[in-house]
Amino acid sequence: MSKFRSFFRNHLVLVGLAAVVAPLLTILGLQYWSLKQLKKSSVLAGSVVMRNYLNDASKEVRTFYRNAAEAALNIPASAVREGDFERARRHFGRRTCEGVKRLFVARFGDGGDVQIRFFHPADGGPADEVPTAESHAAQRVAVPMQHLSAAGTAVRRLDAPELQDYDPENIVLFKPVVDESSRVVGVAGMLLDTAYFRDVLVPRVVSETLPRFFPDGADRRVIVSLHDAAKNRLFASQEAEGQKDAVALRLHYFNDYSLVIRSRHMTAEQWARWNFNFTMTLSLLMTAALVGGIAFSLRTAAREMRLSQMKADFVSNVSHELRTPLASIRVFGEFMKLGRVGDPAKIQEYGEHIETESRRLTQLINNILDFSKIESGAKTYHFERLAIEDVVAETLKTCEVRLRQVGFALVYHPAPRPLPRVMVDAEALAQALMNLLDNAVKYSADAARREVIVRAGERGGRVEISVTDHGVGIAPAEQRKIFEKFYRVSTGLVHDVKGSGLGLSLVKHIVEAHRGTVTVTSDLGRGSTFTVSLPAADGAAGAEGTEGAEPVIGDDPSRGLAYKH
Ligand code: ADP
Repeated sequence: MSKFRSFFRNHLVLVGLAAVVAPLLTILGLQYWSLKQLKKSSVLAGSVVMRNYLNDASKEVRTFYRNAAEAALNIPASAVREGDFERARRHFGRRTCEGVKRLFVARFGDGGDVQIRFFHPADGGPADEVPTAESHAAQRVAVPMQHLSAAGTAVRRLDAPELQDYDPENIVLFKPVVDESSRVVGVAGMLLDTAYFRDVLVPRVVSETLPRFFPDGADRRVIVSLHDAAKNRLFASQEAEGQKDAVALRLHYFNDYSLVIRSRHMTAEQWARWNFNFTMTLSLLMTAALVGGIAFSLRTAAREMRLSQMKADFVSNVSHELRTPLASIRVFGEFMKLGRVGDPAKIQEYGEHIETESRRLTQLINNILDFSKIESGAKTYHFERLAIEDVVAETLKTCEVRLRQVGFALVYHPAPRPLPRVMVDAEALAQALMNLLDNAVKYSADAARREVIVRAGERGGRVEISVTDHGVGIAPAEQRKIFEKFYRVSTGLVHDVKGSGLGLSLVKHIVEAHRGTVTVTSDLGRGSTFTVSLPAADGAAGAEGTEGAEPVIGDDPSRGLAYKH
């Protein structure tokens, strides 16, 4: 159980992501599947809607002619039998028949003769000069009816008119005129006006039905056109060619003509595909944003957890760091107070111990105070144009005793030529250098070569100070992290060396405040070199590197004292 918990804590980001990504991927998969289904059904629905529209428009055309026939062709038998078609004329005169080019009535005589009279649809007036094709069309209707009449066959009364369309230019709708005993006594008919059908009726039906069927401007997304038998486009609701998804339907009565509907910009299939891609892309983007956001939050949470752990370690480390020098000072102080040491050399030695331990305490407290100032943004620097050698030499002098006490030789290679001046805060830079020296000693306790080398030099117009030790070294993976606040390498040879984890983060902050950089090169188990590089104030270029300079301070470790933590 605890193993599981520690795995969870160590891999918070991974576990968190897995917990989010798995359901997200499932949802995405389901969405993909349902979009695929939707794509298929919307293609189907698209063509069904188109077909339904055509049926609807075609019904409108049929209703128009049926109504016209209903109004004009229901003539009573008495009106046909009597006199000279006067009653038929009056019957037609009372109605205006749109879309009809001629009306006619046929009467069957007893001797088998057929009399046909034509009338104008506008006013029912007699039409005398009728084109032959029209009178042939009327005869093709009347003659078979006359046979029925002569045979005395009883016929069914039909609601709808009948159609005669041998001649596509003279289509006839007619109704037999039937007497009380259901025998045919004549025929009333109408010759349909093809030009009206083509130029008036179809455009009107299309413009009325389209918005009803495709509301909210969707009617602009389809093109409806009328085609003749030779597939010529006679009329179209929009000029554009449109797509290839045409659906066609032959019209009632005008069977040679078809009404065709097609998509204007995108077919239902293209539309469904576009919709599919768009929705999937949106979902993928949303998923990516969600996963990114969650990863970011989890990383931040993991960082916070690490930081709070580091802070807890920090408190215990600092307590330890404070206790050790305080204990030393107290012991040496008690010795001296009790007068147990009479030898002046011993007194000097104890005095030196007390001094170095209190310096360590001061350095530690300075580090903590500076860190808190940096965190609150209150840290200030006082830059002066100085010879950096002086700052380095002064700091080394201060540290030299302590290094000697712990058995370390401090070797200084100054630059062969005077270095360019640098804008520095001498106190802050000294503190940074002391932190580097302190680390060099701390992490070389068991080294064969107890030596710290300090070099000052110039490279590419920048002044460089480096601190080299032959201690435990730093693994490549840790080299970047050691400059983070509270970070301490807690594995390998260094795990029992105490520290606050603040030293290098302060060094970095101080150096960067000087517009400089601090870098580390290190071989695990063989030692490390920390290099501080600062921009020269006057940009003067001097000698490259520092090789060959003579060591000048504290090169004799045998004079030092053993240092105990
Ligand atoms: P600490 O108080 O732990 O020394 P620092 O910020 O000074 O804190 O250093 C951070 C970590 O870097 C240390 O815990 C140590 O592991 C590593 N480190 C610093 N200087 C050296 C060095 N000279 N040799 C080896 N490791 C070092």
